[in-house]
Amino acid sequence: TQLAPARAEVLVDLDALRHNVALLADLAAGSGAATMAVVKADGYGHGAVEVARAALAAGATWLGSCSLAEALALRAAGITAPTLSWLDVPGEDLSAGVAEDIDLSASSPDGLRAVVAAARAAGRRARVHLKIDTGLSRNGCPPADWPALVAEAKQAQDDGDVDVVAVWSHLACADELDNPVTDDQARCFAEAYRVAVAAGLRPMRHLANSAATLTRPDLHFDLVRPGIAIYGLNPVPTATPLRPVMSFRSSVALTKRVPAGQSVSYGHTWTAERATTLALVPVGYADGVPRMLSGRMQAWLAGRRRQVVGRICMDQLLVDCGDDHVETGAEVLLFGPGDRGEPTAREWADTLGTIDYEIVTGMYRPRVRRVYG
Ligand code: PLP
Repeated sequence: TQLAPARAEVLVDLDALRHNVALLADLAAGSGAATMAVVKADGYGHGAVEVARAALAAGATWLGSCSLAEALALRAAGITAPTLSWLDVPGEDLSAGVAEDIDLSASSPDGLRAVVAAARAAGRRARVHLKIDTGLSRNGCPPADWPALVAEAKQAQDDGDVDVVAVWSHLACADELDNPVTDDQARCFAEAYRVAVAAGLRPMRHLANSAATLTRPDLHFDLVRPGIAIYGLNPVPTATPLRPVMSFRSSVALTKRVPAGQSVSYGHTWTAERATTLALVPVGYADGVPRMLSGRMQAWLAGRRRQVVGRICMDQLLVDCGDDHVETGAEVLLFGPGDRGEPTAREWADTLGTIDYEIVTGMYRPRVRRVYG
């Protein structure tokens, strides 16, 4: 069925996603590691359920989410693959996670006790991943407290409350290839694993995000956890042929000819130097086009890049089309993979002084329709 025209659409290219996952899973398999597709934040803005299904079809065997609610949403959609949820809210009832066979993370004795309580409430063993803080200083057990956490986890396993599935951690600087912090973290991680094994545990190990999956095969261990790279955005300067998955598009709502000297949009920050045709595009900052890009972005329209002029409004923006004829209804690409010469999410991020992670996750908006292709 034909969808009604949408003001703003995010197009998610699941073929590209499958390509990226297969490539990363091959890299991981070369080191004997499995692949966890990270689908937190609604699949980095691409739609967690659709991304999860496509990633599993392409060779990922695990899923990773931040909150338990995100993991449970995958289960509610009928996805049964091993799924790790790593950031629970203090006091949150984890028993639904145990009942739904979600792997949980523990970074402290209190966190472990919450998992044990959830296991007892659910009437089954909980699968737990023990997280060591190797230097990121977010959650994760400080190394000094690690032996006590490991001993308590071993006891909980012997008591039949948990299975200790893994020892894991997260890297702080893996996207900076010569930053020695990664090796410091790897040494700390090795010691944490040694302590766990000495205590009689036989856990898996996982540490690598996208950057380490791409550049540090020595840190792949049993499982890698790429996020941004499965969406086709490379956090490191390797020539890996990843394909960006998300495009953001709209269409021309109307065109108008304005005379030389005509100023446009709020604040009249731009004035036409000569008579020109403006295309009104019905997307604005409420749809995810940052107002900070006013005067600093281009859009792909009628076969070429053109300047967005004047202030970006809440619901609309203007594109300078010069003397070209532009049809109402013509497609406007705000960003895409870049293969036609259109702007990319990376270009937006560079202009704004941020990272493309923030651009794509920011496209998770009720006003923007997602279309899968
Ligand atoms: N693992 C954890 C614990 C994370 O929080 C994230 C994302 O921040 C990832 C893996 C994936 O990281 P990236 O998107 O850089 O691959």
